[in-house]
Amino acid sequence: MDQAPEETICAIATPPGEGGVGIVRISGAGALQIAEKVVRLRSGLPLASVPSHTLHLADISATGLSGSSSPSAVAAPLDEGLVVYMAAPRSYTAEDVVELHCHGSALVLARVCAACIAAGARLARAGEFTKRAFLNGRIDLSQAEAVLDTIRAKSDEGLRLAQQQLRGDLGREVERLRARLLTLLAHVEAGIDFADESIEFVGRDELLRSLKETTASIEAMLTTCRSGRVLREGARVVIVGRPNVGKSSLLNRLLQEERAIVTSIPGTTRDVIEEGTVLDGVPVTLVDTAGLRETTDEVEQQGIQRAKAAQEEADIILQVLDAAEVAADRTPELPEDAVAGRRLVLLNKMDLFGEERGRRLAEVLRHRTNAPVIPVSAVTGVGLDDVKQGIRSLLSPGSLESRESVVVTNVRHQAALQQAASSLQQAYASIEARIAPECVAVDLRGAADALGEITGAITSTEVLERIFSEFCIGK
Ligand code: GDP
Ligand code: ZN
Repeated sequence: MDQAPEETICAIATPPGEGGVGIVRISGAGALQIAEKVVRLRSGLPLASVPSHTLHLADISATGLSGSSSPSAVAAPLDEGLVVYMAAPRSYTAEDVVELHCHGSALVLARVCAACIAAGARLARAGEFTKRAFLNGRIDLSQAEAVLDTIRAKSDEGLRLAQQQLRGDLGREVERLRARLLTLLAHVEAGIDFADESIEFVGRDELLRSLKETTASIEAMLTTCRSGRVLREGARVVIVGRPNVGKSSLLNRLLQEERAIVTSIPGTTRDVIEEGTVLDGVPVTLVDTAGLRETTDEVEQQGIQRAKAAQEEADIILQVLDAAEVAADRTPELPEDAVAGRRLVLLNKMDLFGEERGRRLAEVLRHRTNAPVIPVSAVTGVGLDDVKQGIRSLLSPGSLESRESVVVTNVRHQAALQQAASSLQQAYASIEARIAPECVAVDLRGAADALGEITGAITSTEVLERIFSEFCIGK
């Protein structure tokens, strides 16, 4: 029977360029029927007769296409490769899927894909395979987004979080909270009379307690956002300090390559220099700034302005001091309390001191600031591992260390959680003020729907379009 084969999609699933293998993927009710027209198994069996999820050597050609003048004659073979049929619903899209594993040649793949289209498939749109997995209920929306995060992950930590979300951990937690809200909503809608304490005292109190708990859970998830974003997208680590204390040298050392210009003339690093790297599993952008000091030189003034701006957007500030200056008690700027939680003080040029004297010097400094003080040397590399660990621990306080907890990395999820939290606060206030249950119900519904947007239980075409348009064709 013909099952709307025009809704069967196909695309090259592997990245462009040469490779060992390249895969054309077909998905939809007509996948088998279309594949039968372009592959011929070496075993001679029809593709439809082989067990699902098994690989078979095949000739791939356009021979079977109606329109070829003589089917039996020599239609030039496109490739030979392996074919696998994955019967619905046990496939990526939860539909019938056929994959043609060809040689990794852009030309071969383009031809095979064109043959599939000639056989009745339609070229898939960006993200359409994943979108179908979502629409068919195999994954929730947060998992679909995690597919993209997984593909794009640039660090071990980012990958770990993407895979956690891909497993559905976030979606499950959000659905749990949403189910609780819907139960509460049912109670409220059933008509709890908040004004009549003699009858409904328990109901009202329980409602408040349950609301408080749910709000606390949502707020706990929200607190993971900053660390989550940083782990996924990377942290801005800004190096500040007076001219000549060794900022550029430390940057170079951390990058392990010569990028910034190192000189012994004060004030030569005039521009902010940025460089991305991965420290201890965390992607970071290291930013070197011009020396923060009073100056009349116009070019350097501009550099200093930019350095101040860079410091304001920093996730972490590495404040570099020259140990010799500290020893001579010409100690420059020490951390202000406002940024203490995101600042490390690096006592540089430790190689010029004896170990014992260096340690005492660091101790003295520690009494004068509540930021961690790390003795380092850009010349010998001493202390740089401590710097990396220091950055890591400032970025992932407490809860993140527990590998079990759900971490929110996506700004769309963050916005939805904020919306839910504020609706719940509103509902709470309304109950306390004994405002009509109808108003409370509206806020509870609002909160539940906000959570539903995360998993896609509640969706708009606009949101779906935005999410899936970020994917590549073939995913
Ligand atoms: P910036 O102006 O803060 O960027 O300082 P630079 O990185 O340009 O370094 C200024 C001078 O200090 C250069 O001559 C470096 O070789 C020297 N220097 C930097 N770090 C160290 C260190 O750890 N030990 C010693 N002995 N010299 C250093
Ligand atoms: Zn410099």
